[in-house]
Amino acid sequence: MLIGVPKEIKDNENRVGMTPGTVRALTQRGHQVLVQKGAGEGSAILDAEYQGAGAHIVTSAEEAWSAQLVVKVKEPVAAEYRYLRQDLLLFTYLHLASDKPLTEALLASGTTSIAYETVQTDDGKLPLLIPMSEVAGRMATQIGAVYLQRSHGGRGVLMGGVPGVAPANVVVLGAGIVGSNAARVAVGMGAQVTVLDVNHDRLKYLDDIYRGQLQTRISNSQAIEENIYQADLVIGAVLIPGGRAPWLITRDMLQQMRRSSVIVDVAVDQGGCVETTKPTTHSQPTYEVDGVVHYCVANMPGAVPRTSTFALTNQTAVYVLRLAEQGLQALQTDSSLRHGLNTYRGMITYAAVADAFGLQH
Ligand code: NAD
Repeated sequence: MLIGVPKEIKDNENRVGMTPGTVRALTQRGHQVLVQKGAGEGSAILDAEYQGAGAHIVTSAEEAWSAQLVVKVKEPVAAEYRYLRQDLLLFTYLHLASDKPLTEALLASGTTSIAYETVQTDDGKLPLLIPMSEVAGRMATQIGAVYLQRSHGGRGVLMGGVPGVAPANVVVLGAGIVGSNAARVAVGMGAQVTVLDVNHDRLKYLDDIYRGQLQTRISNSQAIEENIYQADLVIGAVLIPGGRAPWLITRDMLQQMRRSSVIVDVAVDQGGCVETTKPTTHSQPTYEVDGVVHYCVANMPGAVPRTSTFALTNQTAVYVLRLAEQGLQALQTDSSLRHGLNTYRGMITYAAVADAFGLQH
């Protein structure tokens, strides 16, 4: 099959849809890969590395998009709609439910699209969202440590303390992928860590692994209050699948938190779990409410594109290979990929997207 990897053109997107390792796996199986010149630049991957893996470097986006299968990271932006066509199979993040213009462009062109975010394994996991949650979780603690520094508006507390001085008190709301990765880094830095979740199994898992190096609490408003009022750093990592994040920290509660404490609300992309959360960007990541520093960047993995590219493509590669080998037949043999199908020949094939626009699927 002929496979294309265009350079991402969405503002501030530095990831790339394929690494040289996947290119090599494809070319070794006899497929042809067209990589747009400079596509890997933002992730510190050179054209020469793609060439070494057997890719053809093409100079224009048109050429990369002319392939049968196009593998990307972000949804096509308006300037890319002209590349959509009936015989194109597109594999990328799409988030169509909140993007009517793109949905219409995909339907009008008849493009077959498979969305990373809806690829789902039989046990209900979303394998192509997990790597970004891992990155965001680990980053959340790292970022929190920086904003705890006085020069960044924080309380001036060192995560691990020093002998004779207490470490930072870190509270993690949610013990899923983001929360457990945030907790892992916080424990590693020597902080005093408490993780809250409504799911006892998740807490048991962390309790078993960390054997006393962190505390777990069942999440309810009393436990949240008891913990956040003592916290230096709070990491928001809750998710209600398909729903808006609950406000676990209200404005009233915020007023009773320590001055210059820091909240990193990773759940901001689902509305945030703090009443005062509003989305911020990497260029202006924080603001203060009631003396509490808020960091609410909705695309945290964008700050570490090289790690994020490899984390994402480690998971997408298996599906890319399957699509290259079998084309659309792969959807019949692989139920995870079938869940990923969002549009097919002018029809919406994913219920939540159709529902979002009041259409049939
Ligand atoms: P997950 O499903 O693995 O974990 C969510 C956890 O929240 C679950 O364990 C669940 O039991 C728990 N939870 C639900 N209600 C709760 C409550 N009231 N109190 C405490 N815990 C509660 O999800 P995840 O992959 O860890 O993602 C968490 C959030 O981070 C999502 O909103 C996700 O979209 C977001 N995210 C943001 C970024 C970013 O860049 N900002 C990146 C990746 C993920």
